[in-house]
Amino acid sequence: MKLIGELIVVATQNQGKTSEFRHAFAKLGLSVHSMADYPALPEIIEDGTSFAENARIKAKVVGDALQIPVLADDSGLCVDALGGAPGVYSARYAGEGAADSDNNAKLLAELERLGSRLPEAELPGGITGLSTGRFVCALALYDPTSGQFVEAEGTMDGIIVSKPQGAGGFGYDPLLWVPEHQRTVAQLSKDEKQDIGHRGRALAKLLDKLS
Ligand code: IMP
Repeated sequence: MKLIGELIVVATQNQGKTSEFRHAFAKLGLSVHSMADYPALPEIIEDGTSFAENARIKAKVVGDALQIPVLADDSGLCVDALGGAPGVYSARYAGEGAADSDNNAKLLAELERLGSRLPEAELPGGITGLSTGRFVCALALYDPTSGQFVEAEGTMDGIIVSKPQGAGGFGYDPLLWVPEHQRTVAQLSKDEKQDIGHRGRALAKLLDKLS
């Protein structure tokens, strides 16, 4: 069985991730289905303690149910001033089912509460840097026929800013300012995010392993 066919099934409900995978795989002439295309899938209990573990859990539940190879992404934001939080709890930082805006507000409130400021806090454009941090993405491609996984991880470093900037992307994108581009991730184009982003880097490594 080919691990990457013309249709890639991604074990996610997240529209932001799905849209990024569609953008990346369209360049290879491949189309993407997400869990939204398969309404009767079993519930996934994401109780892993690492991004890699959660990615394997998601890929296995969906791959075993559909009996085809499935790609899963577990990702999140790790903030240094918060000891790596929200990490694997990024999606539910402000509570189960929290909106991106609630998670962003909670992150800023926590950094504010700690009085966190970078030594060189003033960034171009009059924005303030509160902490260093990074996006992390773990990918797991699972083959239910062999029971095997192919895995890869990617990261994107940046600075957490005190006010959301930009309207693109999803999740914490408006809060991570990327020194290389002097903008937040929410101000990058889809191609720029794919080139330097955690998901794009993880995907490039995964495709490398498969070739
Ligand atoms: P997961 O679906 O359990 O992997 O949780 C992913 C969560 O991490 C999302 O809901 C976002 O809050 C955050 N996240 C992951 N990737 C990104 C990204 O590319 N930009 C912004 N936030 C992200």
